Amino acid sequence: MSEARTIAVVGGGLGGLTAAIALRQRGFEVTVYEQAAQLGEIGAGIQLSPNAMRVLIGLGLDQNFEAIAFEPNRHVVRSWKSGALVSATQMKDVFRAQYQAGYFGAHRADLHAVLQQVLPPECVRLSARCTGVTQNPDGATLAFADGRTATADIVVGADGIRSAVRESLFGPDAPRFTGHIVWRGLVPAAALPRGLIDPDMTAWFGPNGTVVHYYVRRGELVNWIAHFETDWRNESWSVESDWREAAEAFAGWHPTLGELFARTERCYKWALYDRDPLPRWTSGRVTLLGDAAHPMLPYLAQGAAQSVEDAYVLADLLARQRHDAPAALATYEAERRPRTSRIQLHARERGKINNTTSAFQRFKRDLGYRLKKLIKPQQHTYGIEWIYGHDVTAARNDASKAA
Ligand SMILES: Cc1cc2nc3c(=O)[nH]c(=O)nc-3n(C[C@H](O)[C@H](O)[C@H](O)COP(=O)(O)OP(=O)(O)OC[C@H]3O[C@@H](n4cnc5c(N)ncnc54)[C@H](O)[C@@H]3O)c2cc1C
Repeated sequence: MSEARTIAVVGGGLGGLTAAIALRQRGFEVTVYEQAAQLGEIGAGIQLSPNAMRVLIGLGLDQNFEAIAFEPNRHVVRSWKSGALVSATQMKDVFRAQYQAGYFGAHRADLHAVLQQVLPPECVRLSARCTGVTQNPDGATLAFADGRTATADIVVGADGIRSAVRESLFGPDAPRFTGHIVWRGLVPAAALPRGLIDPDMTAWFGPNGTVVHYYVRRGELVNWIAHFETDWRNESWSVESDWREAAEAFAGWHPTLGELFARTERCYKWALYDRDPLPRWTSGRVTLLGDAAHPMLPYLAQGAAQSVEDAYVLADLLARQRHDAPAALATYEAERRPRTSRIQLHARERGKINNTTSAFQRFKRDLGYRLKKLIKPQQHTYGIEWIYGHDVTAARNDASKAA
């Protein structure tokens, strides 16, 4: 089999750009095909946990990223009405020792810019909407909406939840409306009363909803996300809403949230979709990555983290098996699918636990967290060390030593 040299990545989101960087660092010729006329990200925040930070460290991008991000002190769970602290996990300082990487909040556009900066502009083709992919034993051909085509030795579909590459490989099917929506907003820290928002990653749990807020951009902005269970189906990332709509849905919650919402200039609203874990991501010379492969609810803040983990593993395995790329893609899927499937299902479960409408269940849950903190004060409230402690770059270094 001839050596794989050229790789087409469909989609220039966080997963696609990370894959392009990791592949280029390993000597592949990479072209990213992005449907939008401009590269960029929406005005919203993103959390990067230590497992994702390990990838940025592996790619040499951590310092650039940390310079534009914010490192919260603790992960905190508060009760929706009283604001009482239910549980707190120290992250700053502790996580760096525990995982050799910190936990950060960032503006999505800032993270996207850090990735973009290290990619030469000629490696990204804009206004390129992929409509399908075909393949033969030696390579794959992409078709685009404007009639153009492009060939490559390998194709990576990083084109999000409604992936055209996925549909081309496995046929059409619709993502699942989860019954959850979110409102999101960014507020300048200077516009907030002093001390209103602690420098923590805070999650307020209440009936039918979870509100999360954290600082981004070196502490200059506060990002908030208000998850709510209702039947409103619109998946666009750009439906403008009004903070008053969120305030109405969260009426009766702690006044801190009302104060935060009320200082939001632009508020967006969208419905959340996911999928059951897919049985397959790969066919021959074509595979999937990120939301194209495993879209998930945001309750564990792992969608982008998993897409950057995918990117690193995929690049590494392809570099090891350049002469048998289909075997490398099969190994990639076998390695990644169990972990991402587990996280997809945990994210759904997390939403149910957070948003329970039963006062008894809330009491039981919060008592459980409080007791756990007495017995195991270091353990994360959600017990997700298995997510944060997974270092795809260490696994790869060990494999290369063994090889
Ligand atoms: C409310 C909310 C909060 C979240 N918070 C977090 C968080 O804190 N931490 C975290 O890790 N994750 C979070 N996530 C998840 C995260 O946003 C996604 O998992 C992540 O953006 C997926 O990246 P991706 O590159 O796989 O896909 P996308 O970001 O969807 O990128 C896909 C790209 O492909 C392009 N594209 C699509 N179709 C085509 C086509 N046919 N041809 C060419 N290009 C195409 C799109 O324009 C886009 O640029 C959150 C998600 C939501 C909804």
